This record gives sequence, C-alpha cells and structure tokens, in this order.
Amino acid sequence: MRGLSCRMNVAAVLNGLLVSILAAVLWKYVKLREHAFSVEEELLLSQQSQELSQVRIDYHGALQSLQEEGTRMVCTGKMHTDRICRFDYLCYSTEAEEFVFFHSNDSVMVPNLGSRRFQPALLDLSSVEDHNTQYFNFQELPAPALKFMPKPVFVPDVTLILNRFNPDNLMHVFHDDLLPIFYTMKQYPDLDQEARLVFMEGWNEGLHFDLYRLLSNKQPLLKDQLKNFGKLLCFTRSYVGLSKITTWYQYGFVQPQGPKANILVSGMEIRKFTQFLMDKLNVSLEENSIGEEYIVVFSRTINRLILNEAELILALAQEFQMKTVTVSLDDHSFADVVQIISKASMLISMHGAQLISSIFLPRGAVVVELFPYAVNPDHYTPYKTLASLPGMDLQYVAWQNTIEENSVAFPDRPWDQGGIGHLEKEEQIRIMKSEEVPRHLCCRNPEWLYRIYQDTKVDIPSLIETIRQSIKTKPSVKKVKMASVVHPGKVREAKCQASVHGTNEAKLTVSWQIPWNLKYLKVREVKYEVWIQEQGENTYMPYILPHQNYTFSENIKPFATYLVWIRCIFNKHLLGPFADVLVCRT
Ligand code: UDP
Repeated sequence: MRGLSCRMNVAAVLNGLLVSILAAVLWKYVKLREHAFSVEEELLLSQQSQELSQVRIDYHGALQSLQEEGTRMVCTGKMHTDRICRFDYLCYSTEAEEFVFFHSNDSVMVPNLGSRRFQPALLDLSSVEDHNTQYFNFQELPAPALKFMPKPVFVPDVTLILNRFNPDNLMHVFHDDLLPIFYTMKQYPDLDQEARLVFMEGWNEGLHFDLYRLLSNKQPLLKDQLKNFGKLLCFTRSYVGLSKITTWYQYGFVQPQGPKANILVSGMEIRKFTQFLMDKLNVSLEENSIGEEYIVVFSRTINRLILNEAELILALAQEFQMKTVTVSLDDHSFADVVQIISKASMLISMHGAQLISSIFLPRGAVVVELFPYAVNPDHYTPYKTLASLPGMDLQYVAWQNTIEENSVAFPDRPWDQGGIGHLEKEEQIRIMKSEEVPRHLCCRNPEWLYRIYQDTKVDIPSLIETIRQSIKTKPSVKKVKMASVVHPGKVREAKCQASVHGTNEAKLTVSWQIPWNLKYLKVREVKYEVWIQEQGENTYMPYILPHQNYTFSENIKPFATYLVWIRCIFNKHLLGPFADVLVCRT
C-alpha cells in the first residue's frame, strides 16, 4: 500500500510540475501578447482622446496615475444644494450610465459623507435647488478593478459636468444654465475658454444650443455622445455641479413660485454676462443706425397671442412718439433679437420666456409685461424680479387683461397647451367661471395652463394709462448712467461726551471721522445714521445727520448709560457698516 501510494505520489508530483511549467510558459506568452496588445490599444485609445479634444496626452502616464492614485475629489459646500466638486480622474461608464470613483491608497474624498452621500445625493447637477431628477452621485470601485474593465479613454480637457434644466425654454436656458455656467467658470480659473462642457440631463441639443456654444471654444458634449468615445471615459480634471449664486427665481416645486428667499446677484453681474454674450454674438453697442429711440413689441406667433398687435403698435408709436418695431423668436435670429433689444427704450411682451431678453435692454429702459385674463401678475414675477434687481436699472410695468370678452381660451387643445377636455365636466365649468387662478405648485396645474395660454385683445387705453402711471419720465435710455455701487467704510474715531445740567437734563455730544474710503471718492450725498439706545431698553432713537458731530439733548437722562451706533450712508441707499458700539455714560 505504501509503495503504491509513493509511486502515485511521484507521478502526481511530476504531473503537477509539468502542468506548472506549461502554465508558466502559457502565462508568459499571454503576458507578451497582452503587452503587445495593450501598446496597440493604448495608441488607439490615446488617439481617441485626441480626437475628443485635440490635446495630446500621455496615455500610459494617465492610466498609471489612475491605477495608482485613483480618483481624487475635493468639494465646496456644506449641503448637497450648495456643493460643487473638483475631481481628478472621475470616470464614467457609458454602458452602466454611472460615474465611477476609483479608490486607491492615494485617492481623496472630501467631504467623506459615508452613506449620507445618498441622503439624498452628493450634489445638485443643475442650478435648480434640490430637484430629485437632478441629483449627482457616483459608484465606487477599488482601482485594481480597472484590470477587468474596458480600457479607459481619457478626456484631457478641463471639464464642467452639469445638467441643463429645460433647454427648449429661453428663460430656463438663461436663468438655470447660461448664467450659472458662466459664473461657475469664473469661480474656477482652469475652467477657461478651452474648457469642455458636458451636459448629462440626457436631452438632445435643444432649440438654443448655439447659445451654449458661446461659453467656451470647445463643442459641448451631450450625454448620448459620450458612448461614441468609449465604454469607460475618465475625465482628467473635472468640476461637477453649478453655482446657484446668480439665480433669482424658484419655479414652485415645493411652494408657489416666486423670487428666491435670499437673492445674491445684482444687475452688475447680469450685465457683465450680457456684455460677454454680446461680444460673442458680434452685437455692437454703438449708436443704432436709426439714430432714434424706439419701442420693441416682442411677439409670440404660436400661442398666448396679442390679437390686436398691429393696432397696439400704432397706438404705442403715437402715444410715445417713437418708432415701434416687433421681434419674435420665430422670425429673427437670436443675435438680431439682441441687437434690436439692446438699444430699445421700451420692451412690451406677453408673460413668457421671451421676456428673459430684457437682460439685454439698456439701463433706463422700460419693461412692460402683459398678463392674460385671470392671471394675477403678483403671482408670477420672474421678469419683475429680474428688472428690479439693483443695478439692472430697468423700470418694470405689469398690465393684466381684466375684460373677459377680450380673452380667447382653448379648452380643446392638449393639456400642456391649456386644454381642459380631460377634466370632469364640473371641474371644467369651475375653471371657466373662475376669475383668478389660485396660487399653485409647478407645473401641470390645468387652471393655470388654461388661463396662461389664452390669447388677448389688449385694451389699449387701459395699457397706455398703466404705463403712464408707472413710469416716472418719458422712456429714454440716453442719459442713464450706471449708479455707483461703492459702499462706505466704517466711521472712525467715534467718541462721546456727556454733560449733566441740573438733576433732569443731560446732553450727549457724539463725534466721529469720515470713513477711510471717502477721501478717495466723489460722492453726491454723504449722511450719517446714529442710533441711540438706553442700556437695557428694547427700542432706540434713530437720527439721520449731515455732519460728523451732533449734540443730543432730547430724551437724554442724567446718570444713564447709552449705547450709540453710527454708520455712514452714500446717496441715500448705500449703507455702510456700523462702527463698534460706543458706551456713553451721562
Ligand atoms: N415660444 C415662442 N413663440 C410662441 C410660443 C413659445 O417663441 O409663440 C417660445 C418661448 O419663448 C419659450 C418656448 O417657446 O422659449 C416655450 O414656451 P412656453 O409657452 O412653453 O413657456 P413660457 O413662455 O410660458 O415660459
């Protein structure tokens, strides 16, 4: 038994040895093949990257970096709603339609949220806040898993990855996409004119793709096009997400629509952006060829029509003694629209996305927004909010049709064009009888759609009267200068001196020096605001003063302690900070 087993063992060992040698030889052969193959493949893949961006890359070096260092991510923002992330080597699987973070010993993930990354997401991919169709996240893999995956194609451009929100609607294009992209690019200097935009929302180019093209010299890529470049794309450097700093309106997803709670943009930034676009569109700001002031009626040709447009144009021309022209998105190129609007004294249009073009109006111009019957202008204010931003320097006027007979509704159209045929008869009757659309959430409220897609015969005397009452002067853009935006600094060397007269009377003399920056400025009007509060009291007495000292005697008691705050004000509305509080004892 022993001998047999020994012989068998020798045979087994020999067998095993043979198999091992064979395996080793095979292995070597496969490795060699693999090497030859991968050199060829690398060449092909780097050619693909080059095709993608005309930038030569060191494919081997890039692959090695990805394998050894993995993905690196550093983000700004405390919440998913204010976060933008910068990545080295963020990858995207076009088969899985998932972004991939590769972990290695050197990868970086800041913030490291653990599974809070899914509550609800790492960040918003569009500028619309916390919209659950716009979330961004990635899947994770260890870097060695790359061995089993399709060879990556590297995208060597610095890339901004984002979702457009509604690329067929001009208001959404500007407010949600173009302005946020422009200022996100300003935030990160390597997102320059050679940066690549990648739109992940999954739409086709959309109606206004040419406008997106103006933002960088490289053709933006759509989600659908990514798979043409390979199965695994790795962005050498990318930024993901959009700045929301410039948005001023919320569309009513969680509460009825209205201005954002904390608007952080002024006309200065909007106008800087429009200047950039106008340069790109070759629109010059020189004196217009007509040389005179004129009014623009922005018309819609498909729906929400002005039924008496010709009559309206005549009346406006006569009333304001100005040439009056019409433009529409259907009959003019966008560059032509901008050229015309950028020199207009007044823009008149039905409520609708075309009114975003008022960002191109010159300072001092008037915007007149027309609302159909039963649509309350106070409830829909994206263009009013825009025109009223400090530094836009536009005068805004809203007019509403209040005469039902001047309105034409379309109950038989499809629901998204205001049709109500799909509703219960009773509900249809209620809607048709209603005199005002109650406040509602976005986006499919049938009563809202029914009313907003009405055509309107504008009652001209009532419109002219509304415009006359709301605008201070004859519309004119000739002399309107940019208002100053320089705020005062703190007043300096504030002092107080008290004097007591008898047992009931006291005086408090307060003096201070001008703010440091004032000596370098020419300011039309400089005033000071002083608040005096008796210690322990809830109320204070405010004063506006023209000089740098004042003696207060009203309501000043002897043997009391007063807190005194002082700040400087330029031109009535530019408030400076309060200086450190003065504690004054009488
Ligand atoms: N639009 C247009 N002419 C029309 C109707 C619509 O140019 O007669 C444009 C409009 O400016 C917007 C897009 O088509 O960019 C979608 O219009 P919709 O009525 O859906 O949106 P709204 O204008 O109410 O935002």
